[in-house]
Amino acid sequence: WQQKWVIGNWKMNGSNATNRLLLQALLKPVDAAATHVYCGVAVPNVYLAAVSEFAAGTALAVGAEDVSRFAANGAFTGEVNAQMLADVGAWFVLIGHSERRQYFQESNDELLAKLQNSVATGVLPILCVGETLVEREAGQEQQVVSAQLSLLAQLGLKEVVVAYEPVWAIGTGKVPAVAQIKAMHKLIYQQILSLCGEDVKIRVLYGGSVNASNAAEILAVSHVDGALVGGASLQADSFTAIIQAA
Ligand code: 13P
Repeated sequence: WQQKWVIGNWKMNGSNATNRLLLQALLKPVDAAATHVYCGVAVPNVYLAAVSEFAAGTALAVGAEDVSRFAANGAFTGEVNAQMLADVGAWFVLIGHSERRQYFQESNDELLAKLQNSVATGVLPILCVGETLVEREAGQEQQVVSAQLSLLAQLGLKEVVVAYEPVWAIGTGKVPAVAQIKAMHKLIYQQILSLCGEDVKIRVLYGGSVNASNAAEILAVSHVDGALVGGASLQADSFTAIIQAA
């Protein structure tokens, strides 16, 4: 639990050919850093099986970017449940990424079901939270993030992994000031302790425009236990540099 986590989120990118090249370049640095950095990639569902197979026997953890809110198999055309993700090698799943909240209007009820299904199946959920620019400018970032975290109270978790991703920092090259990251991560720790109990184990990742040049500074901030990396995780050089900075 002491390791820093560096997780890539591929989003809707990749092909069999480019995934293979990327993984070929990553596996050695991932294994070399494994004593102190836990590395993972969240990949599109269609590539999960192939990526898991390619990464088998290495230290790279493979995960999904989303999961169905429906737990059992059945007539839910187009959906993929947590059991299926586990079956093709997913160790973790991102839940409530801001792009899911924005483009698919994911509600709290839906996110709670996704969290419950993942936990029940043994796929580790990484709950993503974060405020928009409008909310930050209105001074509401703490209320917004606290409300997003409140789902955790209903899960009885002993280990919680959250990614703080301010929406205005995602894909924009804008990174919050160190003091802003520090304050929010501290608040998230406090909230999780009060929602889940004092003996909960906590890991809070930062996400939003993390790259090879800013990773070391961000990862050194107190209560920053790792990074969730979008764009820079698609390039072997950048992602390797972030792993080495951790
Ligand atoms: P970028 O690193 O491209 O800003 O994306 C962050 C993100 O959304 C990771 O989940």
